[in-house]
Amino acid sequence: YSTAVALEEPITPPVQVNYTKLLINGEFVNSASGKTFPTLDPRTGNVIANVAEGDAEDINRAVAAARKAFDEGPWPKMTAYERSRVLLRFADLIDKHTDELAALETWDNGKPHAQAANIEVPMFSRLFRYYAGWADKIHGLTVQADGPYHVQTLHEPIGVAGQIIPWNFPLLMFAWKVGPALATGNSIVLKTAEQTPLSALYAAKLLHEAGLPEGVLNVISGFGPTAGAALASHMDVDKLAFTGSTATGKIVTELAGRSNLKPVTLELGGKSPFIVCEDANIDKAVETAHFALFFNQGQCCCAGSRTFVHEKVYDEFIEKSKARAMKRVVGDPFQKGVEQGPQIDLEQFEKVMNYIKSGVESGATIETGGARFGDKGYYIQPTVFSNVQDNMLIAKDEIFGPVQSILKFKDLSEVIKRSNATNYGLAAGVFTQNLDTANTLTRALRAGTIWINCFDVFDAAIPFGGYKMSGHGREKGVYSLNNYLQVKAVVTSLKKPAW
Ligand code: ADP
Repeated sequence: YSTAVALEEPITPPVQVNYTKLLINGEFVNSASGKTFPTLDPRTGNVIANVAEGDAEDINRAVAAARKAFDEGPWPKMTAYERSRVLLRFADLIDKHTDELAALETWDNGKPHAQAANIEVPMFSRLFRYYAGWADKIHGLTVQADGPYHVQTLHEPIGVAGQIIPWNFPLLMFAWKVGPALATGNSIVLKTAEQTPLSALYAAKLLHEAGLPEGVLNVISGFGPTAGAALASHMDVDKLAFTGSTATGKIVTELAGRSNLKPVTLELGGKSPFIVCEDANIDKAVETAHFALFFNQGQCCCAGSRTFVHEKVYDEFIEKSKARAMKRVVGDPFQKGVEQGPQIDLEQFEKVMNYIKSGVESGATIETGGARFGDKGYYIQPTVFSNVQDNMLIAKDEIFGPVQSILKFKDLSEVIKRSNATNYGLAAGVFTQNLDTANTLTRALRAGTIWINCFDVFDAAIPFGGYKMSGHGREKGVYSLNNYLQVKAVVTSLKKPAW
């Protein structure tokens, strides 16, 4: 690891933590219990700040505020254009405060600062501009019915949306949830992940500065089984949107069903195949497969975590993937040039290390990496396994870390079967220069996104979501609006036409 940057003295983050309380009804308040919990710096495990810990009582307060804001206005009663203007002003404020937002994101999450500042924060404001564009373009249909009726549909907001987000992309997950819900006129209670509460509080403050009325967005920091479960099972929450693990997705769906049957959209885990055909541009495939797996410390639900390589190009692909992983720059995410920071926390660190152990024990070959990086914080060496077999745990489970598993295949029908032999169906990557191969794989693979000769292309307009146990519903794009809309049919009796 000659390219690694020294870890001795963590760089002081260029930002202060200003907001640590719960945001309820437009005000930062302590939790009802007065309890707080520490949010940790993944570079060291040290405390960044103590944050108010929301619980069922705080969820009740936040839902009551959201209910009032929805029922009494002004938000749902404002013109769509006025709502759009608030979102546009928010986007401008995000751009103005890129430095603070990016620094908080890196500090709380451990992701490379350049990634936060140059990709994620710009994408964050882009998403809000996209949704601002939709706010005044939501309308129903005029319907032809049998009989003397005038029939139309009204697309109305669903009410109070409960939203639970994960820690891997705190700001982007905020935008994927809050953007469409606000554009369609809903009010919100957002529960952030306990590992990364900071950037959402900062962003919510900016959203109020942009003119969001009080109570429309309430942000609760807290834990899953307490605050999260209270939100999922609340009788006065009209809709639940969740992103996280498949196991927790099952829990929240059950809680929603047992309470008031609120509709649930889910974006869950994945084990996405990345298929490299014999005619692929190998250098580009190697680089993209590396990015598909290692991006964000491997902490992506759609990570290309089963790299299937055609036997004719397998040896060359392994050599080049190994060389690329060895060049990956690991280090303090605030340091310039660093590509990979620490994993989010000790629990994830240990989980990933156990999968590496399991890969070795089950007979896969470690080409590079396999160990902890440094001796403090949660850094892991970029790890490449070759000779991975379908029945190994590392080929079946979501690892959520910097561990690439490379498998060999012989022909298309075989790789289609093996790619689809999973409970997940979030995404797939295909590398080929043959149009017929690309078309065949596109139609045969059961996944919500197919990336052909690219990967992880996330645009505000492109829908994202899973087949099978990777979830249901789509976020981003026009489809995401439906998650937050009710359709009301209006049937008016007509006088018999006189003409
Ligand atoms: P991960 O394992 O990646 O942390 P989780 O699914 O546990 O994924 O977490 C995603 C989000 O779900 C977080 O905001 C977390 O607090 C929340 N969560 C975890 N457990 C529950 C639960 N029992 N009920 C509701 N929300 C939960």
